[in-house]
Amino acid sequence: MAYNRLGEGDGGMTGKVIMVMVDAVGFAAAVACFGTLEGLVEGRKARRWRMRTVLPSLSAPVYETLHTGTEPHVHGIRSNDRVPLSKGPHVFGVARAAGKTTGAVAECFYSMLYNASPWDPVRDMEVDDPSLDIQHGRFYTDHGHTKFNLHLPAEADIMARTTLMIRRHAPDYILVHTFGPDAVGHVHGGESTEYRHEIWAVDNALADAVPVWREAGYRVLFTSDHGMTADGRHGGTTDVERMVPFYDIGHPDGGVADGVASQLAVAPTILKLMGLKAPPEMKEPALV
Ligand SMILES: [Zn+2]
Repeated sequence: MAYNRLGEGDGGMTGKVIMVMVDAVGFAAAVACFGTLEGLVEGRKARRWRMRTVLPSLSAPVYETLHTGTEPHVHGIRSNDRVPLSKGPHVFGVARAAGKTTGAVAECFYSMLYNASPWDPVRDMEVDDPSLDIQHGRFYTDHGHTKFNLHLPAEADIMARTTLMIRRHAPDYILVHTFGPDAVGHVHGGESTEYRHEIWAVDNALADAVPVWREAGYRVLFTSDHGMTADGRHGGTTDVERMVPFYDIGHPDGGVADGVASQLAVAPTILKLMGLKAPPEMKEPALV
């Protein structure tokens, strides 16, 4: 395995990829609050795209888009109200079929889409099973989240759990998902101090985690599913809901990309970095 220090990568083609998917961080909020990530862009150690989400700008439909490279009207996950197993093909399944190992530290929708639906916490919450599409899974729920009493996994705990998974299993692909900004944004709104503080907390947790992951040979991608309006909503078509960031830490040509990328490009990009061919259903070209 090639080990690369942060920013000294060989283009990242070690085949190992982590994607951090932070729920509900729009493009403007990301650029304003992600000091660590923006520092890597400024130092040309990371490349940042402006990316437009598919519609609706809702969690489960976009989770499926990020891993299938298809739109909700194609993949069939149209709302958060019904989350069945994915029909695929998706990144986890393609990777596993090619003999790669997969992992996720994520909210339980990911278990429902790629391992088993409906959710059974005792069966599904912690798995190490090579027959599953997410072989190493550490899943949590938002069942303690109510409007006035937020119970969220700490951002730093999610990053530490990912580092622990790398030490124990070193999966070839790991999806890391934190939904702190979404939960806080729905309560306090997308222009609140609380929302911006939660976004900063993600960035702060990444400050320690990303160099460790890079040292372990991972290319680190970072994006969001959708943004958050000032009045605490998403699902619609405005720029604040649809424009999200996409960062590639370890990209050989660091800096800011021109234009607007499509969210449909994420799945083929992950597969290309892993050295895998995208299935024909993923029509958008990779970003790398
Ligand atoms: Zn939400």
